Amino acid sequence: MDEKRREIGTIALRGEQLCLNFTNTVSWHASDHPHEWIHSYNDLLSWSRHTGMLDEDEYGQLLQAAKHWPTDAAAVLSSALTLREAIYQIFSDVVADHSPQQESLAIFQQAYADAIVHAQLVLEAEGFTFSWRHNARNLSLPLWVIAHSALELLRSQEWRRVKKCPGDGCGWLFVDRSRNQSRRWCNGQNCGNRVRVRQHYQRRRTSAL
Ligand SMILES: [Zn+2]
Repeated sequence: MDEKRREIGTIALRGEQLCLNFTNTVSWHASDHPHEWIHSYNDLLSWSRHTGMLDEDEYGQLLQAAKHWPTDAAAVLSSALTLREAIYQIFSDVVADHSPQQESLAIFQQAYADAIVHAQLVLEAEGFTFSWRHNARNLSLPLWVIAHSALELLRSQEWRRVKKCPGDGCGWLFVDRSRNQSRRWCNGQNCGNRVRVRQHYQRRRTSAL
């Protein structure tokens, strides 16, 4: 496992929803110097395993499939990044109280349509849910689960609780599940602290004038 793969396999999952965690695979997403975490289809798989979306068997199968069909894997990677930015744009617009752009909605809807073709309704203890019909060559499995996660969030009451971290250029998205809806930061230790430290020094500078 190379260094980069280890990184994507340890990235913080602070979105509270799979689809938002996926948008957070870009650091400094709202800045002019975003940091991309997913550089290959294998990175996408590593992240999917990290989130618990894929179990070890599925991860191993898809890893093998990507080795056999590298062109397909590259195409799925490209679709994944396009879908990620569409979801990011949709929720960014929602957070800003804007109507989502048609282009982003069209990309998302197409991904969801592709997902639903492979969905199978199954009854589990807590009610009906989807499982995903896939075989070893269905490299798009992670995209189906992500698209479904985004639709579920948009259709639930929780979409009103989606927030964007206001840390300088951070732009990570998350569902604020705090009781009084007071969560501000993706991570108070990082973004929150940075802003607090800056405000502290600004105050000191101002009071020293
Ligand atoms: Zn942040």
